[in-house]
Amino acid sequence: MTANCAVIVAKDVLEAKAFRAEVISKGAEALEFRLDSFSTLPDDFSFFAADLPTIATFRSSSDEDRKDVFVHALNAGADYVDIEADSVLRDQFPKDHVICSYHDFEKTPTMEEILLIFKDLLTSGIPKAAFMVRGPSDLLTIYDTAMHLRGMNQPFILIGMGDAGEVTRIRADELGSLFNYCSVRLELASAPGQITLEETLRIGKDPVITAITGYPLTHTFSPEIQNAALKAAKISGRYVKIPAASRELDFIPAILKKYRITGMNVTIPHKEKIIPLLQKIDPLAKSAGAVNTIRNTPNGLEGFNTDILGLAASLASVNMVLNDAKVLIIGAGGAARAAVAYLSRVKANISITNRTYSRAENLAHEFGASAVRIEELKPDYAIILNATPAGMSGFENVSPVPITILTKDCVVMDMIYDPEETPLLKDAKAAGVKATICGKTMLIEQAAAAFTIWTGLQPDRAAMKKAFEERTV
Ligand code: NAP
Repeated sequence: MTANCAVIVAKDVLEAKAFRAEVISKGAEALEFRLDSFSTLPDDFSFFAADLPTIATFRSSSDEDRKDVFVHALNAGADYVDIEADSVLRDQFPKDHVICSYHDFEKTPTMEEILLIFKDLLTSGIPKAAFMVRGPSDLLTIYDTAMHLRGMNQPFILIGMGDAGEVTRIRADELGSLFNYCSVRLELASAPGQITLEETLRIGKDPVITAITGYPLTHTFSPEIQNAALKAAKISGRYVKIPAASRELDFIPAILKKYRITGMNVTIPHKEKIIPLLQKIDPLAKSAGAVNTIRNTPNGLEGFNTDILGLAASLASVNMVLNDAKVLIIGAGGAARAAVAYLSRVKANISITNRTYSRAENLAHEFGASAVRIEELKPDYAIILNATPAGMSGFENVSPVPITILTKDCVVMDMIYDPEETPLLKDAKAAGVKATICGKTMLIEQAAAAFTIWTGLQPDRAAMKKAFEERTV
């Protein structure tokens, strides 16, 4: 059984003792004191004496200084000293009291290489290795290596670092690690990807895991929104990021299976390419040719498109009759395609415009819609829907269409959610349009639909909106 080990990063003895009392009362099962965080090394090491395992860690380039510190810590009651693999001190303490550690902040090596590293570490004490996870293949290497190490019936610690490695910490118990290192506060994490003790205890040792894949996943709001929904529903679970470059997409089904991930969102650029990797596709997703939500079932992976459900809910919020409504869709990418698929189902009269006109033509041709060049647009639409990133933060601060096409009778929706008020929506308000809809509504609704697909529950939308707003401040 893995012990949740609180990593105490304190500046002095007083703070160390305060953190120690706090984490023990919360339920920490082991304590690591980072002696290198102290502004001056104290004489008083009494905080090491405890009814639970304690570890002394002191990263320093000077082995001579550290030797006395480690002796002092063991004498004061520390159960282990953590010594790096390249230190001469690793063989100067009884093996039972040494955690011999190895870190690679750049990459995860192959399983064969990791096993060689563990073979070497084992000669000095309990082997501990932490590797930076860059994507799904590294996650699989860590999983497979952990299963191999488990079979050897020796205590070990194996950690995947970084955002993409978070799932290795959440599944630490299943991977068989002796300790799962947790921070006392988010800002006091001692390694990339470390989760707080509070969150680790909230989700328990066998949590529900949901996730998002895409690349590079730097802008996504989904973790904040989905984690708020899990918390509000009192589900012991966590939503994690698993960035996957295109060459790694094929590993996603194995990741879902091995790490027992209940469901996954799929975002740019994989919404289309994920389809051949799934066993079943919902008809709406099939008509859009894109999947943004996967459910992991005993019968295989099922694909859905909740962008469409989010769009439908957004348009429903302004009570528009869609049948026969003249709709202009701006864009010809994945989001535009989902919109065209939905709006053609509800028999709207669709026109498509796009920066690259030929793509608008192709999409229109596929769904029996019309294509129109941006410079030929007229004030002729009941609904205008932006499905491009033009106006998004980080992009040019411009509207994708001229203000002259916005009339008092039309509803304008922008799929962009950052910023909430885009140049298009600003123009629309200035033109006095009937209603505007921002991308936040669609984002929350697509996330809510995914949550329901995974859990069978309706999420707390207010909690999701609050998480969105906290992220945007
Ligand atoms: P995509 O597949 O990459 O398509 C991008 C589309 O936008 C293409 O038609 C592209 O035109 C056009 N475009 C790109 N940059 C442009 C610019 N600077 N000016 C004018 N047009 C530009 O992306 P997507 O998945 O469809 O997503 C499009 C937007 O919808 C994104 O902003 C995304 O965040 C948003 N979205 C929001 C939600 C939500 O829940 N609110 C859900 C899905 C998507 P070309 O063909 O000329 O390249």
